[in-house]
Amino acid sequence: MSAVVASAPGRVNLIGEHTDYNGGLCLPLALPQRTRVTLTPRTDATLQLTSAQEDDSWQGVVEDRPGGWAAYVAGVVHELREDGHDVPGFEAAVDSDVPLGAGLSSSAALECSVATAIAGMLGLDLEDRGVRRRLATACIRAENDYVGAPTGGMDQTVAMLARPGHALLLDFADDSATPVELPLEEAGLVLLVVDTRVSHALTDGSYGDRREESAAAARALGVPSLRNADLGRIEELDDDVLRRRARHVLTENLRVLAAVGALGDRDWDELGRVLDSSHVSMRDDFEISCRELDLAVETAQATGALGARMTGGGFGGSAVALVPSGSVARVEAAVSAAFGDASLATPAYLEATPGAAARLEAGG
Ligand code: ADP
Ligand code: MG
Repeated sequence: MSAVVASAPGRVNLIGEHTDYNGGLCLPLALPQRTRVTLTPRTDATLQLTSAQEDDSWQGVVEDRPGGWAAYVAGVVHELREDGHDVPGFEAAVDSDVPLGAGLSSSAALECSVATAIAGMLGLDLEDRGVRRRLATACIRAENDYVGAPTGGMDQTVAMLARPGHALLLDFADDSATPVELPLEEAGLVLLVVDTRVSHALTDGSYGDRREESAAAARALGVPSLRNADLGRIEELDDDVLRRRARHVLTENLRVLAAVGALGDRDWDELGRVLDSSHVSMRDDFEISCRELDLAVETAQATGALGARMTGGGFGGSAVALVPSGSVARVEAAVSAAFGDASLATPAYLEATPGAAARLEAGG
């Protein structure tokens, strides 16, 4: 068998943070930045893994349970085999222009590129949304159960189902995925991503703490998930922390709907206000922001952004700002200057134009 090449995008979440594992709503888009993998099947079960982004290569079988970056690849193989697919060993060479650990989901890009290449190798129909959904589910399990990062399903779902020019409204209550037009260019706007270069680690416990607090708040309110909770009843929660966690999740779901409404109305000022209030909620109620993210958001807001918020799991990573295209250079200069004044490393910037889902590039 010959080599198969597949790629999958990183993503940025426009709004709806820590809602996916709470049966809630979010609105991510695929980035133009992608992870690409070249898979060459082997006649035995051995995986031989190299990445242009990592010094360490890895060789072994899935049962060896590698740590580090190889776990993301071995995890996908493990989960697809659990689903009954006859996945052979392979050589995999990975390369990516998605920044790693920046809250832009290089992990899902890696998992989904590998899953898509395997699907191509096995002859699965990638035109079939059901196939894509099952691949996304296997990638989510790989990250949760095999790697051990307790993330929700947003990243892999958008990597497998994104549509160019659109954000994707994901509803984790009914698993629907609805493309929402994102006509930024015709509105003269740029979705500017500020990578603070503060590395976040999803396996260090803070993300899992928020997941547990959300579940505890749902239990205290007597509902299966916070999606089913009534905002009016939150004040009944005696525990101040749980009350604030629940308030973030419930109001964030409402803000996702408000953002979708603003996009439909092409009301960019309103969209900006919704982004701003999302940041306040994450900073004060969910407590997942940090000094660098707050500085990036506040500086962007003060220098021409219509709105800004931290994005991704939090505790570092990236912020996103809605900026008139004529003001992008000014916002970037101001954010870099503010970071310099605070003796922080200069952030990296990228413009998020909504890209395409995972796809086969060659072979398969
Ligand atoms: P994010 O998904 O926000 O970038 P994560 O902590 O979830 O951050 O995932 C980053 C990890 O995923 C990296 O530390 C590495 O183990 C793995 N990874 C992602 N992209 C690559 C790549 N191109 N090559 C090797 N490993 C990668
Ligand atoms: Mg990730």
